[in-house]
Parts: sequence; structure tokens; C-alpha cells
Amino acid sequence: MSLFPPEYLDARARYRAFMVEHVYPNEAAIGREDDDSQTLLEELRGHAREAGLWAPHVPPEAGGTGLGFLYYACLNEEIGRSAYSQLVFGCQAPDAGNAEILHLFGTEDQKERFLRPLVAGDVRSFFSMTEPEVAGSDPTLLRTRAVRDGEEWVVDGHKWFSSGADGAAFAIVFAISDPDAEPHRRGTMILVPADTAGVEVVRPVPVMGHTGRGWSTHCEVRYTGVRVPVANTLGGEGDAFRLAQKRLGPGRIHHVMRWLGQMQRAFELMCRYANEREAFGGPLAGKQTVQNWVADSAAEIQACRLLTMDAAGKIDGGSEARVEVSLLKFYAARVLCDVIDRAIQVHGARGLTDETPLAVMSMMARGARIYDGPDEVHRMVVARRILRSFADGDGWTFS
Ligand SMILES: Cc1cc2nc3c(=O)[nH]c(=O)nc-3n(C[C@H](O)[C@H](O)[C@H](O)COP(=O)(O)OP(=O)(O)OC[C@H]3O[C@@H](n4cnc5c(N)ncnc54)[C@H](O)[C@@H]3O)c2cc1C
Repeated sequence: MSLFPPEYLDARARYRAFMVEHVYPNEAAIGREDDDSQTLLEELRGHAREAGLWAPHVPPEAGGTGLGFLYYACLNEEIGRSAYSQLVFGCQAPDAGNAEILHLFGTEDQKERFLRPLVAGDVRSFFSMTEPEVAGSDPTLLRTRAVRDGEEWVVDGHKWFSSGADGAAFAIVFAISDPDAEPHRRGTMILVPADTAGVEVVRPVPVMGHTGRGWSTHCEVRYTGVRVPVANTLGGEGDAFRLAQKRLGPGRIHHVMRWLGQMQRAFELMCRYANEREAFGGPLAGKQTVQNWVADSAAEIQACRLLTMDAAGKIDGGSEARVEVSLLKFYAARVLCDVIDRAIQVHGARGLTDETPLAVMSMMARGARIYDGPDEVHRMVVARRILRSFADGDGWTFS
């Protein structure tokens, strides 16, 4: 029996067929990140729209084709297998998470101006929170300021790792609007069009040797005397921490869903190669170390799948699933890195070449243990909540 309802599996089969026909054959071309790859990407996005596979992360009332988190988890076991398919289906990070909070908290006017073109794929966005000068793990330290001047916000600050800022149409900026409020009421999220005077995308910061272009960049951004109407406030004044939880919770589980696809692809490559490649009198598949890697990977991948289904089901049921999402985030990030690393090791030198997708997968996977909260912070969140529950006399029930 499958973990998913049959209708979800039918939808997943349609994504699989699309990936086989359109995505895998074009992965190398898209990965070149040149003008031709942009044209090709637009063509593939057109096919995805025509096939009714566009924007599965948000529901139809927000312009997508989504049916909730469990549905999206099911699809991502396919979509996540290729690093580029999130772009092809219009559900790429960070736009997917930004769309989610605009859908939940945007005013009608904000939805019209920002959400509609974002979900339609006409524009991209970025989420501008982390700053080079202070620890991103602790957002109470953020320094970017938003000061009210009549009916305008004036934003000044310095951010980095604003993913996808190169060529994006707007940012959601996390700024400190009331430094004297209690720490979790100090911040406000503000929608800032990228062409506003004073917004400067300084440079894409090279990450592990990759500078990227457009969507694949992680940019340093300066905000100098940036004026936007107060009507661009997302949620209420002082709501940034609350919204960040709403933004990052779904964003984190979206990442993990994609990683399930990456893990399974690496696992399959490892198993196939282990059966094919011979050394010391027999296939690698006959060596106990390789068997241990296969067995450990199978157990860990299935554990990640079950944790994902559990968290997705709880979110669909109206829970924030804070503990579930945090423990899934740090556990799955580790499994992702380990499985890809084992697959590379089984491939020997070939694993480091571009003859398999493993080298690119490995480069992209490492950030998983840091972005949207480092492993250590998620462990802290999980442990604190569980221990507090014991201290309150409630213990902890594995629901
Ligand atoms: C690929 C990538 C994409 C990103 N995209 C975005 C984006 O689009 N927008 C955005 O705003 N940010 C983005 N980020 C930034 C990311 O969210 C931050 O890197 C993250 O929050 C950690 O902040 P920091 O890098 O300042 O590390 P710091 O907060 O300085 O932490 C450094 C290290 O200290 C340790 N540490 C911290 N707290 C604890 C603790 N309580 N206990 C034990 N150890 C601890 C951890 O090992 C951590 O890795 C991205 C990062 C990456 C790698």
C-alpha cells in the first residue's frame, strides 16, 4: 500500500512523464545558465502550463494547481529529482514561500500587484533577511531599519544571501521598525519593488565556486533611504517574526520535499553503479561497506519520507507543526548530504565529474544544513520544546 492516495499518485505520474520528456534531456542545457538556457526554460514553462502542471505549491484561488502540503510532498518526489524542475513548474524557492505568505497575509491590493504576477511566473522575487554583520540564526540581532515618515517607510540596511535578487521584481524585506519593542515585536516585513531608488543589488556572492545568474544567485543587497508606501507593509507592523515563522515553516518543508527527490535519485545512481562496476573479483555491490551504505541510505530515506508525510499532514490539518518541521529539517539535510556523498564515493572519480548529476547535487546540498536555519538551531528548537513540555509535567507524546 502506498503512503499517498491514488489520485495523488496519478498526478505524480503526470509529473514523472513530463520530467522524462522535457526536464532530464535538457538538464545540462539549463545548467549552462546562458541566454539559450533562459529561452529553453521559458519554452519548458509554457509546456508545463499547457499540461496543467503549473504552480502546484499554491491553490487555484492563488493562481496555482495545488491541493495542500501532502499533495505537494507527493509531487516533489518527482519534481525534486532535478535541481531545475522547480523553475520549470513555477514553484521555485524563494518565490514559493513568498507566494505562500502573500496569499495568507497580503491585502487585496498586494495580491493583485505582487502575488498574481509572481504565481503566473511573470516575475521573480527575493526574501531579504540575513545580514553579513550579525548572526542570521538569531533574527533579534538584525540591524536593517525601517522608519515611518508620514505615509512612507524609509528603509536602510545591508543584506546578503538574498537568493534570486539578480533580476527579481521585488523583495520581502525583514526590517526593524521598533527597536524598543519586546524583541519579537521589533520587526516588520515590507514589500519593496527592486526598481525603487536606493535599492542596490551589489553583487551575486559566489557560493562554493558558483556565482550563478538570475534565480541561482545569492546576492548582497544595500538599501539606502529606500522609500515605499506604508501600504506595502505585509501583515501588520511588528509582525515580522510571526510572519517569518509562517514563511519559513512551509519554505522548510518545501525544501525537504525536494530533497526527497534528490536523495532518491542519488540512491538509484548508487545502486545501479554498485551492480555494474567490478573490482577485486566481483561487483561493488558484493562489498559489505557498499551494502551498508545502501541499507543505511534506504532506511534513512524512508524515515525522511515518513517524517515529511507526518509534518505535511499536520500542516494540512491546521497545525504549525513546529517540532515536526524542525526535526525533519535537520534530519533530512544530514541524510541528503550523506546519501549524495555515499553515491559519489561508489562512483569513484566519475562521481566528481559532470557525467553524473551527483557533483552538482552535492554542491547544492551542502547549503541545506545552513539555509532556513542551521542544523544546530533546529535541534535547539526541538529539544527546548520537548524539554519544556516535560518541565510542565506534560511529557511528550509521539503523535
Ligand atoms: C544557499 C543559501 C541560500 C540562502 N538564501 C537566503 C535567502 O534567500 N534570504 C535570506 O534572508 N537568507 C538566506 N540564506 C541565509 C541563511 O538563512 C543563513 O545563512 C542562516 O540563517 C544562518 O545565518 P548565518 O549564516 O548568519 O550563520 P550564524 O547565525 O552566524 O551561525 C553560524 C553557525 O553558528 C552555529 N550556531 C548558531 N546558533 C547556534 C546555536 N543556538 N547552537 C549551536 N550552534 C549554533 C551554527 O553551526 C551556524 O551554522 C541562505 C543561505 C544559504 C547557504
